[in-house]
Amino acid sequence: MVTTRDYYEILGVEREASVDEIKKAYRRLAVQFHPDKNPGDATAEERFKEASEAYAVLSDPDKRSRFDRFGHQGVGQDFSGFDPTAFGDFSDILGDLFGFGFGDIFGRRGRSRQGPQRGRDLQYTLRLTLEEAATGTEKTIRIPRQESCNACGGSGAEPGTSPETCSTCRGAGQVMFQRGFLSVAQTCPACRGGGRINSSPCSQCDGQGQDEVEATLRVTVPAGVDSGMRLRLANEGEGGRQGGPAGSLFVVMAVEPHELFEREGSRLHLELPVSVFQAILGSEVPITTILGEDQTISVAAGTQPGDVVRVKGAGMPEVDRGRRGDLFVHLKVVVPTKLSADQRGLVEEAARVVGDVVDSERHNGLFEKLKRALGGE
Ligand SMILES: [Zn+2]
Ligand SMILES: [Zn+2]
Repeated sequence: MVTTRDYYEILGVEREASVDEIKKAYRRLAVQFHPDKNPGDATAEERFKEASEAYAVLSDPDKRSRFDRFGHQGVGQDFSGFDPTAFGDFSDILGDLFGFGFGDIFGRRGRSRQGPQRGRDLQYTLRLTLEEAATGTEKTIRIPRQESCNACGGSGAEPGTSPETCSTCRGAGQVMFQRGFLSVAQTCPACRGGGRINSSPCSQCDGQGQDEVEATLRVTVPAGVDSGMRLRLANEGEGGRQGGPAGSLFVVMAVEPHELFEREGSRLHLELPVSVFQAILGSEVPITTILGEDQTISVAAGTQPGDVVRVKGAGMPEVDRGRRGDLFVHLKVVVPTKLSADQRGLVEEAARVVGDVVDSERHNGLFEKLKRALGGE
């Protein structure tokens, strides 16, 4: 049985060390003992593996606490069936560190291969006028996205070549190392688990297997959409990797405010100015709905400012329901500000004939009450 050293001791950190300190310590050792820097040095290689194992345990809060409580026994159990992807961020750490991918550290060019991955979902904000939202529309949109490279078909290998079997893991995607009597699997750092190494990366996509392209799409927007609603276009997101499916594209509606209509779900509100005479006498007033229909609304005689006329079914369509909301016409009684001498004469005549029609008795009573309360007069 191989003697196992204390993980904190291996990394040279205190037992209370923060995740950051542990990460830093691991980086330092990884640089120092990296197999590439110490070719043929078995001790360095051992130190590198040791440090990697210590880091794998101490960087995982769960494993770390078990190691703290039970020592190697605590994590040894776990190591027998542990998830090799837990080692995934080694490459990230070292990639960060050296400023390039792990594959490069091992003296090989190009991106290594991983298994099939679904492409990322994308989101696009589609601006619509209220009219477009009401009628429904077709829009052409341009989406910059990653697609499978057409030169290499997504393999990342220069056309005519194909990725070679990884010599580090012999294509298995995992390397084993001995920990005590346990054989521990680690994701192969050279090929990142893909089992293959791309020695002549595709020049068009730089071995990524993907290209940035601008896709042109037609989007059918149903009538009645509102801001925040999403249309999902399956397979129109970013392309998958290594044969994985593409992600989805979510088109998010953003309906612009309208000059005339204010929207409240499927209801619409419209402010309509009517003259004081129309309000007094009553009138039929033409309006146009959001769908362009001509309608006439009846302004009742004696209409007060702010009175609302409800027009059934003249609001916004509801998506997929075939129904329409109502239109609420808010009447704004407009008092003329300029009268000709003739007009003024007529209004004065009307005022004399009609008289003071405002029922001010209640108010007069309240004013009296106010005066009494203030001064007792
Ligand atoms: Zn390519
Ligand atoms: Zn490999």
